[in-house]
Amino acid sequence: MKKLALHWKILIGMMLGIVFGFIMNSVEGGKNIVIDWIKPFGTIFINLLKLIAVPLILASLIKGVSDLKDISKIKTMGLRTISIYIVTTLVAIVIGLGIVNTVKPGEGMAKETIEKIKENYSSSADAMVGKAKVQAEAGPLQALVDIFPKNIFVAMGEAKMLQIIFFALFVGICLLLIPEKKAKPMIDFFDSLNEVVMKMVDLIMLFAPYAVFALLANVIVAFDDTEILVKLLWYAMCVVIGLVLMIGFYLLLVSIYAKKSPLWFLQKLSPAQLLAFSTSSSAATLPVTMERVEEHLGVDKEVSGFVLPVGATINMDGTSLYQGVAAVFIMQVIWPEGLTFTNQLVIVFTALLASIGSAAVPSAGMVMLVIVLESIGFPAELLPIGLALIFAVDRPLDMCRTTVNVTGDATVSMLVAKSLGKLGNPKVKNWDDHYKED
Ligand code: ASP
Repeated sequence: MKKLALHWKILIGMMLGIVFGFIMNSVEGGKNIVIDWIKPFGTIFINLLKLIAVPLILASLIKGVSDLKDISKIKTMGLRTISIYIVTTLVAIVIGLGIVNTVKPGEGMAKETIEKIKENYSSSADAMVGKAKVQAEAGPLQALVDIFPKNIFVAMGEAKMLQIIFFALFVGICLLLIPEKKAKPMIDFFDSLNEVVMKMVDLIMLFAPYAVFALLANVIVAFDDTEILVKLLWYAMCVVIGLVLMIGFYLLLVSIYAKKSPLWFLQKLSPAQLLAFSTSSSAATLPVTMERVEEHLGVDKEVSGFVLPVGATINMDGTSLYQGVAAVFIMQVIWPEGLTFTNQLVIVFTALLASIGSAAVPSAGMVMLVIVLESIGFPAELLPIGLALIFAVDRPLDMCRTTVNVTGDATVSMLVAKSLGKLGNPKVKNWDDHYKED
């Protein structure tokens, strides 16, 4: 086991977790054993990753910006990052809409299936609609106001990503503006903090194969409605095909623009992708994404320190693709008269905004789907039924779309780094050197 590369260990952990979950599902009391005795190890792992996310963003961004030596470069990097993020998200939505309109998974769904779904999932769907209402009530500029923290410790405590990024950029820029002698101790401190946190990622990752076992066993026992799952297979397939095409699009960008081998890119990034899949949270995966991108893909800290945390918060290509497919699927099933070209155009823009506004945590994309549907005048009384329709398959799709979200962020960091001449040689040359116990 020790000689195996990390991504293989994680994959084996995932497989065993799935098998174990099915076994425990079939024995009496097995489900509770997983929930009480296995799941907590997955939770500990996610907690550890979240624990280091905030110091990691602070350290790598402050150190990165102060290394740039030139404030105008920050502006260029910011504009490029946001523009590429918007373009990739639009591509994702268009791919999703193209597929769902071609395959039409919602047409001809049996009445009794819809009834059964309503029965089983209405209360969970109601809860989702309630959560979305809270989000939708904020004023139009609230998202902007939310970037500026009034207390950095509260921002760190609540892991408000954009607020922490703002603070780190502010500190980094001020370090550039004060005399070098005065700035040096602080820069050195953050440099050293960055190294420490990177080492923490390495150590935490030694635990990853066991943690994904726990996480996946728990996903399987939480999920027992296989009958409805099969009925929703075409819808789920549309989302998955779209996500696979999106990964193909990233690989094309990596090979054409960044001039790197797609296989190499996937291999180096795979531990982060597997964790995104297992945790359904780009925020929890962030420390590992940063470590992979900086140390294994060769992106300089000043780029990854900015592009990745921003991306985890606002760039969710998988989520936006899913929102496009889900909105049209729901309309095909229960509101076919709403399927106009104008509405689909509105979906492109609202799904873009909704994915930006989705939190990087499990199920966030589904909550924001409510806002997408409301924007096209979807009848309020049908909303809970619409959400109930897709509830049964949401978790597996969340796992897949989170993987794409993380891959998208990593791709954009390669592109931005390449465009700024900041794509260097990876610190870790050989596959998995990093995790070998020395
Ligand atoms: N779970 C996704 C993420 O963390 C967001 C979502 O689509 O629900 O990236």
